[in-house]
Amino acid sequence: MAMQDHIREVLAGIGEDPDREGLLKTPERVEKALKFLTRGYTQDPRSLLNSALFTVSYDEMVIIKDIDVFSLCEHHLLPFYGKAHVAYLPNGKVIGLSKIPRLVDMFARRLQVQERLTVQIAEAIQEHVQPRGVGVVIEAMHFCMM
Ligand SMILES: [Zn+2]
Repeated sequence: MAMQDHIREVLAGIGEDPDREGLLKTPERVEKALKFLTRGYTQDPRSLLNSALFTVSYDEMVIIKDIDVFSLCEHHLLPFYGKAHVAYLPNGKVIGLSKIPRLVDMFARRLQVQERLTVQIAEAIQEHVQPRGVGVVIEAMHFCMM
């Protein structure tokens, strides 16, 4: 069964009439929205990070604060959103600053739990940049707990 047919079933399941005018295009829109919200599955941290590594001689900590995070909790398929803060201590290599928010987004745009999202961002930086240390903090509001 196509995703849109399932979404029609869900609409009927909550007591709605999927054939009323306002809902006719909803299955199509929901499918599009879900594909957007989970587009991280089609993205690969290796190709993002390896193309943006620079050799440096300094070893000061790199900190990127207040990165927007929008994700979906895997238990309820409800949004959670907030801010990520990423810091790492370079070991001869840094990544382009704009890549960090994209890395966060790549993992956030999947079905997630906040703890795993945090670990995946840190592990991707550890693996591809090989810093002396990396720290990631995420502060988020979860719709399933509000
Ligand atoms: Zn949840």
